[in-house]
Amino acid sequence: MLQVKASTGLVALMGCPVEHSLSPLMQNAAFAATGLDLVYLAFAVTPSGLPAALAGLKALGFRGANVTVPHKEAIIKYLDAIDPAAARIGAVNTIVNDGRLTGYNTDASGFLRSLQEAGFDPAGKKAVILGAGGAARAVAFALAGAGCTGLTIANRTLERAGHLAAALAGLSVLVKACALEEEELRPRVEEADLVVNATSAGMATMEGAVPLPAAWLHAGQWVYDLVYNPLETRFLRDARQRGCRAISGLGMLLYQGAAAFTLWTGKPAPVEVMGEALRKAIQDSHAAK
Ligand code: NAP
Repeated sequence: MLQVKASTGLVALMGCPVEHSLSPLMQNAAFAATGLDLVYLAFAVTPSGLPAALAGLKALGFRGANVTVPHKEAIIKYLDAIDPAAARIGAVNTIVNDGRLTGYNTDASGFLRSLQEAGFDPAGKKAVILGAGGAARAVAFALAGAGCTGLTIANRTLERAGHLAAALAGLSVLVKACALEEEELRPRVEEADLVVNATSAGMATMEGAVPLPAAWLHAGQWVYDLVYNPLETRFLRDARQRGCRAISGLGMLLYQGAAAFTLWTGKPAPVEVMGEALRKAIQDSHAAK
């Protein structure tokens, strides 16, 4: 049972909306399992309220925070410092407060750790990323940094894909931006070693939606869906049926959280406890429907 005392340290989640986030359950389970006197709370913060919320974080001595949609990019200008990797990505999802607010991106390292743990080594491989939002940015920089030689960024809004492709210029990876249109995208999907869904298609609010037809996929390819609720999206199920290796976004959620835990506490994260808390929360959310 959580005992909040006068000495209890605070960690915040700031986003809008936040009420469906699983991070409070995951991080509070981790604090309890490691006996740390910390508590993690979620706050709905609007874009106009962001500067005041950050000033409050400092004034109230919060240990740190997670940042989620829609603030991951906008927050950068209000921070005192930014980790170089997060600066390259152009998005922050974790803040450490030691009197100064420093921004980090643990989405990229969390994605890469889960991908490598599943057995995929990006070095020398070609990947297609569907989406060009904050999560796609983290995935693109993670794959480029891990040695991918070809990246296609495909997005519903072509201009946004173009911006991400331009941000990757200068890295040793061949990048192409394209729209979600069959003529251009299908051949690129067919020759890819890895296809990543970093769009919102397939989320519980858009359940059943797929980012592209499974007929474009073939056996032996790897398919990663960043969506973690439902645990198995229709896209992943269809991909598995076509003989692809399918990876769900749960691992990324877990490992970005584990990396954030270590940044706030300086301690290794109890990943088994955190993973169990996540799986249980997702199962409970489906049982309640
Ligand atoms: P975001 O910045 O809002 O970007 C959303 C992306 O999805 C954009 O590329 C958008 O295209 C595209 N999109 C939205 N609806 C679509 C539709 N009906 N068809 C095709 N494309 C559509 O959000 P984000 O933070 O990048 O998150 C994207 C996904 O990743 C979400 O499902 C989120 O839950 C997941 N995610 C998972 C983790 C994890 O730890 N597993 C971490 C972060 C995010 P436009 O540019 O055309 O609008």
